[in-house]
Amino acid sequence: PSSRFIGITTAPPDAILGLTEAFAADTNPQKMNLSVGVYKDASGQTPVLKCVKAAEKWLVENEKTKGYLPIDGQADYRRHVRNLIFGDCVESDRVSVVQTPGGTGALRVAAGFLNSQLAPIRVWISTPTWANHNAVFTSEHVPQEAYRYLADDKKSFDLDGMIDDLTNNTRPGDAVLLHACCHNPTGVDPTAEQWDQIASVVAEKRLLPIIDFAYQGFGNGLAEDTVAVRAILKVCDEAIVCSSFSKNFGLYSERVGAISILSGDAEMAGAVQSQLKTLVRSNYSNPPRHGAAVVATILDDADLTQMWHDELTEMRTRIKRLRQQFVETMKKTGKGHDFGFLLDQNGMFSFSGLNKMQVDELKNKHSIYIVGSGRINVAGMSEDRMDQLCAAIADV
Ligand code: PLP
Repeated sequence: PSSRFIGITTAPPDAILGLTEAFAADTNPQKMNLSVGVYKDASGQTPVLKCVKAAEKWLVENEKTKGYLPIDGQADYRRHVRNLIFGDCVESDRVSVVQTPGGTGALRVAAGFLNSQLAPIRVWISTPTWANHNAVFTSEHVPQEAYRYLADDKKSFDLDGMIDDLTNNTRPGDAVLLHACCHNPTGVDPTAEQWDQIASVVAEKRLLPIIDFAYQGFGNGLAEDTVAVRAILKVCDEAIVCSSFSKNFGLYSERVGAISILSGDAEMAGAVQSQLKTLVRSNYSNPPRHGAAVVATILDDADLTQMWHDELTEMRTRIKRLRQQFVETMKKTGKGHDFGFLLDQNGMFSFSGLNKMQVDELKNKHSIYIVGSGRINVAGMSEDRMDQLCAAIADV
């Protein structure tokens, strides 16, 4: 019988998930996975935070309904998102916040907003970037351009290249996607002064900033990590922020994020909010309740909020400790190779400078899994096995 599906070809597998499958099948007891993008604690687990467990316990006892949330999400949750990201930088009635399924959901709604309200509009994206960025904007038919970001040494920020591209190659009205902190995949972030320089070009060229804020609290702290947002808000009246609580609350699978759009005044903000709701309605209709309820329960309670701050600090400082230990161990076990540049990088990820051949050899010879670009998930390292990792890297 003829099938209408006969001509469908198999899509290429997701590169990182493919590695995870290979890792699972590897029988070497010494195997190590530094490819996936989740936080791990000293025992190699991705734990449920204690503040989350406490909030969930409260919710199990007190939650009254599983009825649908409003299209734009839970009101308390949206207020907390606004406070965490914008603080008192701008008048709150100028910010439209819509709860979304994770940061990816926020980016997808942002791309839909560009397509439905602002087309024709192009978006400028850093080279390199998180692999899903291009796919998300492609899905909403938003044309993309690339701006320089990582310097040729693959270790530092190419400020001049980025400024040059934004100044000379963009058209007024284009959008520019910025990583607020903990740039994925490189870990390389601009300094506060450099953010001011970037922001002034964005304002001068009337570019629409889209700030991807997936790692608030993983760089230097919750307030400290708003440096890019504050630099942009100082000089731009309009901006989009796509944020996520996947990493900083460890709520990955609960899909908790938000899109926040800053408009020039409250009236425009109201119109923007209504258009965002239209986009959501025909996409996933309304967001999931549980993760946002957990976040709101924690942030509504001073003790639980303190617990969250402490647990977030522990995650951040553990990653910084691992960076330090890795660099020191590379100097010894790692035959003196200098990886000191990792100490200037932020967040879970770093570009190691390892090339595709070295990455393959690490996998085939040492059962150590790193993505082809050389990106390492620092949070996947373990104190106990640092010698093993560094000796293997030195070997390749
Ligand atoms: N943006 C960046 C840069 C990310 O690294 C990620 C997650 O890895 C996301 C967005 C999306 O996160 P979420 O899991 O909340 O969709």
